[in-house]
Amino acid sequence: MPKGKVTFNEEVCKGCGLCVEYCPTHILYMDMKTLNKAGYNIIRVSEPEKCIGCAFCAIMCPDSVIKVEVNK
Ligand code: SF4
Ligand code: SF4
Repeated sequence: MPKGKVTFNEEVCKGCGLCVEYCPTHILYMDMKTLNKAGYNIIRVSEPEKCIGCAFCAIMCPDSVIKVEVNK
């Protein structure tokens, strides 16, 4: 089981890319083919099994889009 699990409230994402930049395991990416209702590209997880649950992505997000669950 991965250490962490991230979920996105994608409709409030502004596509700033900070979460992508700060994820230490480089598993977040901007989906260039999918826009939310506000017209911003959403973020996806490429390899969920590599999430370490550090929550850097959630801390960096200016709009509180990301929720991180940490598995014990
Ligand atoms: S919790 Fe950490 S490892 Fe997981 S996606 Fe966010 S920044 Fe990356
Ligand atoms: S930091 Fe937040 S607002 Fe910016 S791209 Fe990531 S999820 Fe979207």
